[in-house]
Amino acid sequence: MDFVSIIEGNLRSVLGLKTPIMIYREEEYCKKCPVALNDLGEYNGRCNKDNGGCNCGVSAKTAQNGIDCPKGFWGSDWFKPELFKEYLQKIK
Ligand code: SF4
Repeated sequence: MDFVSIIEGNLRSVLGLKTPIMIYREEEYCKKCPVALNDLGEYNGRCNKDNGGCNCGVSAKTAQNGIDCPKGFWGSDWFKPELFKEYLQKIK
């Protein structure tokens, strides 16, 4: 992840300038992802390192171009819904 992407993600997040695909990443993946849950099982908006994530804030991370989900569930212009579904079933 490069510095420009981090700035882009944070600005887009703060200013509400997310594209539809960025919103989709956050709503359909990160907000439903066990990696973004804290010890109490609550969504905390972070791709938690302790759960195998990258420790980025989800809102800014999903608002960047040219980056991938550390678990390989989504990227710039692609999604792997089957992989995500498998992961959710394994974690239960
Ligand atoms: S692992 Fe991927 S889907 Fe899960 S919170 Fe992190 S970036 Fe989002």
